[in-house]
Amino acid sequence: MDSGMISKIEKAMLYAKEPERILFNSFSLSFNGDHEQHKVTYNSSKWQCDCSYFQDRGVCSHIMTLERVLKNSVQLAEIPETLPYMDSGIISKIKKAILYTEEKERLTFNSFNLIFNGDHKQHQLSYDGNWNCSCSYFSTHGVCSHVMTIERLLGAAVTPAEGIPSIA
Ligand SMILES: [Zn+2]
Ligand SMILES: [Zn+2]
Repeated sequence: MDSGMISKIEKAMLYAKEPERILFNSFSLSFNGDHEQHKVTYNSSKWQCDCSYFQDRGVCSHIMTLERVLKNSVQLAEIPETLPYMDSGIISKIKKAILYTEEKERLTFNSFNLIFNGDHKQHQLSYDGNWNCSCSYFSTHGVCSHVMTIERLLGAAVTPAEGIPSIA
């Protein structure tokens, strides 16, 4: 491992503590719930989940989990004001989301698209099983501090980038 790569890893560790640098435009993922698998999507601040609780309430334990995992990198789901919010049903969903947050292996991202505010520039990062970042380090190394940051945040929910082995 060359010193350039080591400095990128160090940067990613710092970046991972600053989720406000990251802004998701869209993503799509599978969520292994307790009973079945759900498909969750996020597109220009709009959330969607195929579970029945979401259809009634506009939010669910799956979305609340992602809000916790992705922190400031996503907009919170809008709750319809006509619904009584803090009933016992929703409280049990919140408790579930807190548990799910520690179980990232339940999540499998299919794709996402985000903006990463680096130290000098904004970068476009995308994932569909393969990673892509608009920064110049990525184009020569197949990995970069931005990709490594997202890998740290999402853990087992993404496939790690295959960096291009350095020849030297
Ligand atoms: Zn759901
Ligand atoms: Zn990059």
